[in-house]
Amino acid sequence: MPSALTPSRMTTDVLIVGAGVAGLWLNARLRRQGFSTVLVESASLGGGQSTKSQGIIHGGAKYALHGALSGASEAIADMPRRWRDALAGKGELDLSGVRLLSEAHYLWSPGTLAGNLTSFFASKAVRGRVDHVTGDDLPPALQNPGFKGKVYRLAELVIDVPSLVERLAELSGDSLLAGTKIEPLLEGEDLIGLRVDGREILAQRVVLSAGAGNAELLKSMGLSHPPMQRRPLHMVLVKGPTLKPLYAHCLGGGPKPRVTVTTHPAADGQWVWYLGGDLAEAEGVARDPEAQIAAAKKELGNLLPWVDLSKAQWATLRIDRAEPAQSGLVRPDNAYLSVQQRLMVGWPTKLALAPDFADRVLAALARDGVHPTPQSPVVGLPKPPMAQPVWDQLLP
Ligand code: FAD
Repeated sequence: MPSALTPSRMTTDVLIVGAGVAGLWLNARLRRQGFSTVLVESASLGGGQSTKSQGIIHGGAKYALHGALSGASEAIADMPRRWRDALAGKGELDLSGVRLLSEAHYLWSPGTLAGNLTSFFASKAVRGRVDHVTGDDLPPALQNPGFKGKVYRLAELVIDVPSLVERLAELSGDSLLAGTKIEPLLEGEDLIGLRVDGREILAQRVVLSAGAGNAELLKSMGLSHPPMQRRPLHMVLVKGPTLKPLYAHCLGGGPKPRVTVTTHPAADGQWVWYLGGDLAEAEGVARDPEAQIAAAKKELGNLLPWVDLSKAQWATLRIDRAEPAQSGLVRPDNAYLSVQQRLMVGWPTKLALAPDFADRVLAALARDGVHPTPQSPVVGLPKPPMAQPVWDQLLP
């Protein structure tokens, strides 16, 4: 029930449900444009997929590898620039202070795939976006006399997602609201807001950006569109005193990276390697955690035999990617938004595409003539907690 400090009925311009990167980014952009907002979160800020992601701000080069990047019109191609501007404090949001883990992500071919790669790097899709690197320019973990293979630098950033979530929460001011019981507020057949733990919140527009929670929220409103799909992953985490930073897709023979490695700072100062890519897809999902760790040890032993992992700690994480249902297995390269009168529902489909998700909501508001209205400030809303980084949860 509402506390005595805050009203049991309030109004706002835009009411958002779900404080992952999509909801938080949108909230910050709306506030910057003068809209009043309330952002409801049922668990922790960023604790869904966002802080469990690898933090790569893709520009699409990975998809060019299997021909899925159809052209410059794809929103993803512009994402590294938009994030770079925001991180420098001169973009659509001021994200100065967010920790940049790597200026670049790398493509690494372990040596036997030269033929395959030559045609890829000659292709129009990647020309001008990748540079071949050697020697001291190699990622620290690959600077070893035993290393054989080719490494290409992609103009894609890797960010520390927990620090991003913290900054976006700051930009949210007093708009964050912890709430678990969410019901539609109707006037006749029309959605006019939501009831959140008994508190009525009227809004010009309601946006569902609850990731995997969208399907259930839609169901509670008697809606089945847009349909959602989940794609499971079984990620591996390894922490150890000998690890050096590595941000790279290691290429195999197939269209997907054999393994994608990102490196994250644990609270105790050690580095954690977070392993995704093909290792974490179908076959990895079918393995139990013990077998998945064994597979990861074998993979790292083959690829990076000089890295001493004898003192490393290991864990796995099962997590689903939530997206709009797709026909076939085509990966979306744009954010997705469905608009149904006053309700908007969507998924960014990638952390990198959070700016595109916000663009789509702002465009829908402009199209419908929804403008900021004067609101009395609300203070004292119960706030959701910050998510703890997943590497610190699993490898304390
Ligand atoms: P989420 O982060 O899942 O946030 C949804 C929020 O809604 C959660 O906080 C949840 O608690 C809340 N919620 C749910 N139900 C309710 C409810 N009923 N009421 C209130 N709140 C609710 N993308 C990239 O661009 N680069 C990467 O390197 C990358 N790596 C990834 C690695 C992994 C392992 C995974 C799983 C995904 C990765 N992604 C990556 C994809 C990216 O993480 C997601 O697309 C993005 O984080 C989705 O953001 P979101 O805000 O939509 O969802």
